[in-house]
Amino acid sequence: LFMAYKTINPFNNEVVKEYDNATKEDINKTLEIDDKLYHQFKKQPISERAAILHKIADLMRKNEDDLAKTMVLDMGKLIGEAKGEVELCALIADYFADNAENLLKPTPIKSGAGDAWVEKQSTGTIMMVEPWNFPYYQIMRVFAPNFMVGNPMILKHASNTPGSAVAFEKVVNDAGAPEGSLTNLFLSYDQVSDIIADDRIQGVALTGSERGGQSVNKVAGENLKKSTMELGGTDAFIVTSDADIDQVMSVAAKARIYNAGQVCTSSKRFIVADNLYNEFVDRLTKKFAEFKPGDPMDPTTTLAPMSSARAKDKLTEQVNEAVKAGAKVQFGNKPIDLPGQFFMPTILTDIDSKNPAYSKEMFGPVAQVYKAASDEEAIDIANDSNYGLGGIVFSGSKEHGAEVAKQIETGMVFVNTFMFTLPELPFGGVKKSGFGREMSSLGLEAFVNEKLIVAV
Ligand code: NDP
Repeated sequence: LFMAYKTINPFNNEVVKEYDNATKEDINKTLEIDDKLYHQFKKQPISERAAILHKIADLMRKNEDDLAKTMVLDMGKLIGEAKGEVELCALIADYFADNAENLLKPTPIKSGAGDAWVEKQSTGTIMMVEPWNFPYYQIMRVFAPNFMVGNPMILKHASNTPGSAVAFEKVVNDAGAPEGSLTNLFLSYDQVSDIIADDRIQGVALTGSERGGQSVNKVAGENLKKSTMELGGTDAFIVTSDADIDQVMSVAAKARIYNAGQVCTSSKRFIVADNLYNEFVDRLTKKFAEFKPGDPMDPTTTLAPMSSARAKDKLTEQVNEAVKAGAKVQFGNKPIDLPGQFFMPTILTDIDSKNPAYSKEMFGPVAQVYKAASDEEAIDIANDSNYGLGGIVFSGSKEHGAEVAKQIETGMVFVNTFMFTLPELPFGGVKKSGFGREMSSLGLEAFVNEKLIVAV
């Protein structure tokens, strides 16, 4: 089971380009090249890869416009957000180029046994399976650290973002990275499984849905391959009773609508103290009404289409189901009169715990708003989820916000700010949001051999 690799512009449904699938020969050749490269990387000083990674960052900045447009054609994000993503990728590349050598230094262990330390060494080729929502950033999170470690990588990108996959691979090659550093292959699910089973593969990094994660991690498990899984989320945005409502409103809409709401860490559930609830809903309604759908290539457009017809259909079905089960449509849920895959920003309230919407991830511009009588109740609602990725807390003080943040069962919580991502900050979740971390020193160590040496 797999879909053909195709760019379909979600703004006008035009098929831009179709791609051929990889052959068995392509796969065998890549695995061979990668295995050689893995051994070659071991002999090479890390500073050589740092120089190439800086070059990748430079090329990304230089070609920002074209790179951004490729993503917009693939999956419809706003051109301004696409440019921001290219800049973020360059930042990640520079960070690992500058810091990996130091972060990978051996760590001494105080031991009665003698001189003991842990070396951090490469392990081999990594299979990466990535989603369409941030077509470059998702690749860069795995690529930059593992390139520095010396692990070659094979990329299977989402079937609807092949243009971005090709463009990213080209930047890597143009910067002078040795062949095999990152190879994009248009693979079927079975081919991905075969690659994971190959003895030369030493790790699997996936970002995507719970279902995709389950299937791929099953194959990784059967073959005893280490994996990192970055899956979905139903992140809470908690507003405590002492929060500054103006500050809250300056980020609330963006926290949900950014990237047309298709972010694993989008704020999907707003949990608001009852003294602020009515004002919050009124002001969020006004904000949502201001979004202007249009061509994502036009910098004045503020509402992008969703990434595909499939994504829009799924969200439509979820909202209908929620309403049938008693949710109230506070705003939105009306068709937008444009041919593309647009979904009107929508606010749902009155969702009880039996409503299917209560526990499902809505991957698009739909906000759920809940009322909480106390911090404890807000925390209980936030934690009453099988997911545990990120979250936001707005409070009267940093200290109060941090107290609440500590009690949220997720991998990341941001206090009094929009959630963001930076190369030095670890990214990942708990529960069904997956395991392992990307970026930061933790991401750098995801696929290293932490090798103990004891010398007496
Ligand atoms: P998927 O998990 O299906 O896709 C992510 C990647 O995994 C794609 O490259 C996909 O390939 C691949 N994939 C899926 N199943 C397999 C398999 N059995 N073997 C090999 N590769 C596989 O996510 P969707 O695109 O379907 O998005 C649907 C949902 O996923 C969203 O509604 C959201 O909940 C979640 N999601 C979460 C993201 C996050 O950042 N955590 C990002 C994107 C989605 P292909 O495209 O060919 O199917």
